[in-house]
Order: sequence, then C-alpha cells, then structure tokens
Amino acid sequence: MIIVLKSGISDADVQDVCQRITEMGYGPHVIRGEFKTIVAAVGEERGRPDLRLLEALETVESVMPVQQPFKLASREVRRESSEVRINGVTVGARDVVVMAGPCSVESEAQVLEVADAVKASGAKILRGGAYKPRTSPYAFQGLGEVALEYLKEARDETGLPLVTELMDPRHVEAVLDVADVIQIGARNMSNFSLLSEVGRAPKPVLLKRGLSSSVEDLLMAAEYIVKEGNSQVILCERGIKTFETSTRFTLDISAIPVLKMETHLPVIVDPSHPAGRRDLVLPLARAAVAAGADGIIVEVHPRPEEALCDAAQQIPTADFPAFAAEIRALASLMGRTIG
Ligand code: PEP
Ligand code: MN
Repeated sequence: MIIVLKSGISDADVQDVCQRITEMGYGPHVIRGEFKTIVAAVGEERGRPDLRLLEALETVESVMPVQQPFKLASREVRRESSEVRINGVTVGARDVVVMAGPCSVESEAQVLEVADAVKASGAKILRGGAYKPRTSPYAFQGLGEVALEYLKEARDETGLPLVTELMDPRHVEAVLDVADVIQIGARNMSNFSLLSEVGRAPKPVLLKRGLSSSVEDLLMAAEYIVKEGNSQVILCERGIKTFETSTRFTLDISAIPVLKMETHLPVIVDPSHPAGRRDLVLPLARAAVAAGADGIIVEVHPRPEEALCDAAQQIPTADFPAFAAEIRALASLMGRTIG
C-alpha cells in the first residue's frame, strides 16, 4: 500500500505515520518526491490491520494499493526517475554514463592502461572483474583479491569510480572496501540471500538481468535489494537466451522502454556480452542509447587477442576513442550528453 501524505507536513508527522505503520506490523519506506512525500508500507496483509485505517489521520491524503508485485521499485510508488550518485557521477539523469574496462583484471599494467584510455575518451566509471563467474570450472576464475588492489590503484591514478562483481558473500568486505558500485552478475540475479546482503550495503548496486529471467524477475530481484533499505540500484539489460545462435545472447531492446515505464530505477545496457563479438558491440550500444538507456557498460582490453576471458567481444583500447565518439554523437541526437 502507499500512503500519500498531505503537502507541507513536518518531519515529525512523517515519523508519526511511519511509527503507526510499524505498529500495524508493516515496514515503512519514506519516498520524498518533488511535490509529495509518500510512505510505502510493505508486508503481508493477511492477519494484519487494514492500512486504509490511516486515511482517518489529519496528515494523510489517501491510501492506495500498489498493483505491481515489485512495490518499492515500481513507478506507481515513485513517479519521478531515481538518480544513483557514484562519487560525482550521476546515473539516471541527462548523461548517458559510459562504464568501460576489461572483462577481467589480468595484471596491474593491463588495468592501468585501460583505465587511462577509457577515461581519455569520456568514460565515467571503470569496470573490471576480480571474481569471474565462468561456465567452466577449468576456465580463468579471476585474480581475486590482488585484482581488487590493482583496481584500487587504477582508481587512485585516474579518479574513475569502480564497478566490480561480488559473487560470494564471503567476499563482501573485500569488495565493498574497493568497489564504488557492487555488480551482481546475471548468474547471481536470483541469489536472493546475496541480493539481501547487498541491500544492507552502503554502496550502489549494478544488477544484471539473468540469462533466462523476465523483466518482472529482474524487478523482483531489485525489490529484494531496495526492501533492505538500499535504493541505489541500477538495472542492466545484458541479453537473454533465445533460440537465436547468431549472437551470444539476444539483447532485449524492448526491455529498456518497458523497464523505464515500470520502474523509477535507472537502466543501463551491456552491449558486449549479447554481441559476443566486437563488431556488433557498437550497433548494439547505439540501439541501447536510442531506446533510452541511461548508460552502457562496455568491455575494453589493450590486446583483446591475449585476453583471458571474452577475447572475441572486447574492444581494443585503440578503437575506443572512435567508439566513444559514435556514442557521444548519438547521445546528443537524443538530447543527452556523455559528460
Ligand atoms: C561481466 O560483466 O563481467 C559479466 C560476467 O557479465 P554477466 O553477469 O552479464 O554475464
Ligand atoms: Mn565478460
């Protein structure tokens, strides 16, 4: 249920409504909009008092049910788009935020070289995996903690905030210590205990869509995070499994406008993993920007032919300036900038 409060009420009044909601057995979440403050009350309604009783309060304008199963993530609860702020970079506003970097961190020199190159072309966030989710247990699994050290150095040198993947709750402390954004990869989108864990973390989360997950599954996964109190969630479309074999995954372009309609959370696109080959990355990235994505996350490597992971789809650093120029031109056509 959403409890819409009357305009101009005090913080004490908001607290009073929250306390009543808690006493009725629900969890209150305050959402402050430009014009109105609302409180979303979440929890099982069976066996609990009817929240509509709150309509009797002087401070309450109305009490309305939320139709969508994802409550706090839905546009019903918050009509204005949310912005996620990452050390001076805002995702979900005018900029199409470009995040770029290697699939996995392979050496200090590699990550420093990529970080400098992508920064020079306008990327605002550095990506790079320390822990890699691999289909084969025999494939390179990432350098782990030492990679986190290299990423930290790259951030210190360039000032670019970092996004890196958290796969295992045992690594929370180490990853949180370094990451400015915690990535939850496609294979962990339905790892509900991990989602709740990052929901309690004090850092933004980049949540990637599962390989075989619907848009609603993705939004329900986001709800797990937001419900714990972390509303700094960025959703990422990265392609899904279909019968099509000419690409690695099928990039679901329609998911972008659908998500933008159903949730207030920012939506970005990973064009690298659905492409599976570097010559398709630019057209997919363009399509993403044209469809209204708030950003893209792209794999870039100094010498992709030597990459330990996803060699075929990484863009050489030497080609990244031209790539970024194309994205900049398209963003400006869409009335946006890449900063
Ligand atoms: C990645 O971004 O490094 C990655 C492994 O992506 P995904 O989880 O989307 O496969
Ligand atoms: Mn990859």
